[in-house]
Amino acid sequence: MSVALVTGGSRGIGRVIAENLAKAGHDVAICYSGNEAAAKETIEACEKIGVKGISVKADVSNADDVANMFTTVKENLGPVEILVNNAGITKDGLLIRMSENDFDSVVDINLKGTFLCTKAAIKDMMKARNGKIINITSIVGVQGNPGQANYCASKAGIIGFTKSVAREYGSKGINVNAVAPGFIQTAMTDELPESVKEAYKKQIPAGRFGTPEDVANVVEFLASEKASYVTGQVIEVTGGM
Ligand code: NAP
Repeated sequence: MSVALVTGGSRGIGRVIAENLAKAGHDVAICYSGNEAAAKETIEACEKIGVKGISVKADVSNADDVANMFTTVKENLGPVEILVNNAGITKDGLLIRMSENDFDSVVDINLKGTFLCTKAAIKDMMKARNGKIINITSIVGVQGNPGQANYCASKAGIIGFTKSVAREYGSKGINVNAVAPGFIQTAMTDELPESVKEAYKKQIPAGRFGTPEDVANVVEFLASEKASYVTGQVIEVTGGM
């Protein structure tokens, strides 16, 4: 089985993706930005499933951190064959009040982080002529959302990035796809006011919010050989939103 690296695997959607990939038999590395205790819990859960696991503290927007992370993962588990670019943040606000820093940090972590990790992974994947890259974007990167110009720009950027890299490396046995979740219940969405959550729910034909498992199941498929003829796609996991 392969080595999978899930960025932002300490909590939320990333943790469940990591656990699902462990259940599929892959050794799992995760990175986190500060929450060491949560990262440890994810790795313990993966090890209990019976695979090897490692967590690395790394800011995906920092090129040195990313280079060190890939070295550590390779030394401990082997070259990465499945990369899930999941780490992401929001810093919401209306454009008129959005600071340059709030724009830059969201784009740096969400979009530049995806670029840095993908670039770091691609050489070994080319050598192996095998690789699966799954980028977590968002439905709002397709549709836009008031109060999230920075976030939506970063997530729309991930879609263009995914399609370009898929075209560049399709002939090398590397599949690059994006998953666009809708409203998924995690810490990221817990902080929204109840009135906003209710308004979102009304727009979801499935009649419920999504779970991290809903997203992780699709990631697991895209990481598997069953998806070997799928590349450059954006799979929406939104309950029809
Ligand atoms: P979350 O619960 O807030 O977890 C975020 C994860 O990213 C944590 O593991 C966090 O590490 C890590 N992280 C944050 N900044 C980082 C950095 N600079 N470097 C490395 N890791 C970093 O988020 P989530 O809701 O699970 O979201 C996961 C992904 O799905 C994100 O890309 C998000 O944009 C996307 N998404 C979420 C939803 C939703 O409704 N929840 C919808 C669409 C898309 P620490 O634990 O150390 O802080």
